Amino acid sequence: MSVNVLFAATAERWDVYGDLLPAALAEAGIDAHVATEMDPAEVDYIVYAPNSALQDFTPYTRLKAVLNLWAGVETVVGNPTLTVPLCRMVDPALTQGMVEWVVGHVMRLHLGMDAHINAAPGTWEPVAPPLSFDAKVAILGLGALGTACALALAAIGFQVAGWSRSAKDVPGVTCFAGEAGLPLALEGAQYCVLLLPDTPATDGVINAETLAMLPAGAALLNPGRGPLIEDDALMAALDAGHLSHATLDAFREEPLPAAHAFWHHPKITVTPHIASETRPAYSVKTLAENIRRGEAGEPFLHVVDRDAGY
Ligand code: NAP
Repeated sequence: MSVNVLFAATAERWDVYGDLLPAALAEAGIDAHVATEMDPAEVDYIVYAPNSALQDFTPYTRLKAVLNLWAGVETVVGNPTLTVPLCRMVDPALTQGMVEWVVGHVMRLHLGMDAHINAAPGTWEPVAPPLSFDAKVAILGLGALGTACALALAAIGFQVAGWSRSAKDVPGVTCFAGEAGLPLALEGAQYCVLLLPDTPATDGVINAETLAMLPAGAALLNPGRGPLIEDDALMAALDAGHLSHATLDAFREEPLPAAHAFWHHPKITVTPHIASETRPAYSVKTLAENIRRGEAGEPFLHVVDRDAGY
């Protein structure tokens, strides 16, 4: 019997997924009907972008799972009409994109690249940059993305500390967990990278108190989510000279309004939520594998813990 997959995301995404998703399902051996409109009572799986018009899952009476196109689930995880498993997006391309953004932006700051890129012609001030061996990076969040970034930075030579909710063991990375572990992860870290999900427990995790745990001259990088940071505390730490720089990809309000102070602060770099995105050619494989698992009665991959919120 054919599996019915509803694609609930924007029309532009369907332009790409409309071909790729049926092909990936066929390759996974699934006989599937994939469409953007379907009788709700006949839908088996929903491939979902949380900004789609579909917000009431009640009519989808035979639904087996909702497969999120994004890694972050904060806008769907609390939907009371969603009672089937919710799976988030984890795929090698999404991870690789994040590794490249994080490594690139840490290295920009570490090597002081801006001084040379912006130097006036004739400036010849030969100061050798520091070595990674002598610098510590704290990665807050040791999930799919944080772990990959931690491993990449450790491979370059940085001293890497990671922080998560549950205890972890990552080779070459000093792992801390829980409330008591946060000061230890932040202590002495010249670079702090935020790869936590947006949940009630992580809201404002970067505040005046935690910023003060970083050493003077540290830099903050946030490719996670905007609410992780208390914005006023960040501005105060930059203005006081305690932080040297903040590179921000995610914001409490997106798009970041043109008048927002972050755009105009000399020590803040804004990137427009591009640290990593779901690449359809890869993500369809994750989607197809989860549908295959659902049909084979195997456990789904990357199921969201609804109580924890991620
Ligand atoms: P993930 O695999 O779910 O990992 C989340 C990590 O955060 C886990 O290590 C988790 O701990 C930890 N964590 C959660 N709550 C915590 C708490 N209260 N205290 C300490 N640690 C906590 O997520 P991911 O795939 O790595 O993605 C991380 C986030 O990146 C996403 O939620 C999304 O918001 C963001 N993101 C941004 C972009 C972008 O382009 N800017 C792209 C993709 C994703 P445990 O390991 O103990 O569960």
